[in-house]
Amino acid sequence: MGFDLNEALMGRRLEGHALHSRYLNPQTPRVLRAIGFDKVYERGEGSYLYDVEGRRYLDFLAGFGVFGIGRNHPVVRNTLHEILDRQLADMVQMDAPLLPGLLAERLLAKAPGLDRVYFCNSGTEAVEAALKFARRATGRPRIVYCDHAYHGLTVGSLSVNGSDEFRRGFGPLLADTAVPLGSLDALEAELRRGDVAAFLVEPIQGKGVFVPPVGFLADAQRLLREHDALLICDEVQTGIGRTGRFFAYQHEAVDPDIVTVAKALSGGMVPIGATLTRDWIFKKVYSSMDQMLVHDSTFGANALAMAAGLATLAVVDEEGLVENAARMGQVLQVGLGELAQRYELLREVRGRGLMIGLEFDRPQSLRLRGSWSALHRARHGLFAQVVVGTLFQRHSVLTQVAGDHMEVIKLLPTLVIDETEVALFTDAFTEVMEAAHRGSGLISDLGRALVRQALLPARAPSDH
Ligand code: PLP
Repeated sequence: MGFDLNEALMGRRLEGHALHSRYLNPQTPRVLRAIGFDKVYERGEGSYLYDVEGRRYLDFLAGFGVFGIGRNHPVVRNTLHEILDRQLADMVQMDAPLLPGLLAERLLAKAPGLDRVYFCNSGTEAVEAALKFARRATGRPRIVYCDHAYHGLTVGSLSVNGSDEFRRGFGPLLADTAVPLGSLDALEAELRRGDVAAFLVEPIQGKGVFVPPVGFLADAQRLLREHDALLICDEVQTGIGRTGRFFAYQHEAVDPDIVTVAKALSGGMVPIGATLTRDWIFKKVYSSMDQMLVHDSTFGANALAMAAGLATLAVVDEEGLVENAARMGQVLQVGLGELAQRYELLREVRGRGLMIGLEFDRPQSLRLRGSWSALHRARHGLFAQVVVGTLFQRHSVLTQVAGDHMEVIKLLPTLVIDETEVALFTDAFTEVMEAAHRGSGLISDLGRALVRQALLPARAPSDH
């Protein structure tokens, strides 16, 4: 009687890929098969995934960053059970419930200078709110954003996306303007036109793991103030401790006007998004009683998301995860930095805390150049995909390429990793680099296999 989950799943646990082919985005199973990622996962715990064959995988992708506190954290799980058991009067809508107030209070305590929160359901919604808030607060239309930027894929967020492959075919978009990350001159030139509402920037870019020069955000803020424009920091990926500070902008003396948060805020179990702003900005947006719902979302402050957020922030504090991200990030980056000295294919290790990019480049020695060039010529970024594939197939380590047409892989582990996981990853990566430099055929074989299987999808699974 009713719905029985066990029954719904029984006997069908291997059908996910077939059902996606039939009813959902059919490119997903195609790409997964092409790159050898067509596994069926059954369980996740902390920093590990387990497939139906009982194989364990080290998860250095963390659901594109949502599992900061690790998968299926018991504190968040128990909180969610408790919320369901309470049979709350959730989403009455014409009420002012306690949970969003408590989460806003706790979140704002992490962001001195910001006073108010708008809750929604995803990163892109948090960005959409930021764009609207900036326009209404300043009375100006234009947003300046950065080349390579990624802020989500709804139309407003797409208008401030710095990669043509996402934008192509979806226009016309809003008339916003891109500048190179780190270029104060370009930013200032745009500000001088007098119509810029805000500069929107990821303190570390997710696509490619590009880190702006030290001092850039603070200098940008100074310029923005001079021109009465706002600074929006998109912390959807970098927030909640990822980079070794609660927010990545806090590595510098920066005081943003708007901050967007999502992903890791609810421990990965319930969709969530949040836009943090100053009081005066809210006063401009929600300017009178008849403007109460001028920007809103039905599910925005639902009890499950709010409770999961509260539980997650408690875990982050109690387990010292911001500090752990800083510490483990340092250990990982030092270890990987040593590999960059040893292996010529590895050009650079960059990032902050546990958001790390590994960039590969054309080797100097003639011996290695042949296989590098063959892959690179087939598709810019294919060498990185081969490294990701080898880490996965040979070492059961899940990572991702950091963006289309980039020879960069990105490490985005949970923030609960310790020396064991650091060593597991570093040893696996060392073996992959060793094999690549030995010219053992491993890399070129896998590369050829990928080319054969037409690994030329418009978008291999780089992060979003
Ligand atoms: N902003 C940043 C910096 C992101 O990294 C992402 C997603 O990766 C988004 C916004 C969009 O978030 P969502 O996928 O939840 O819409």
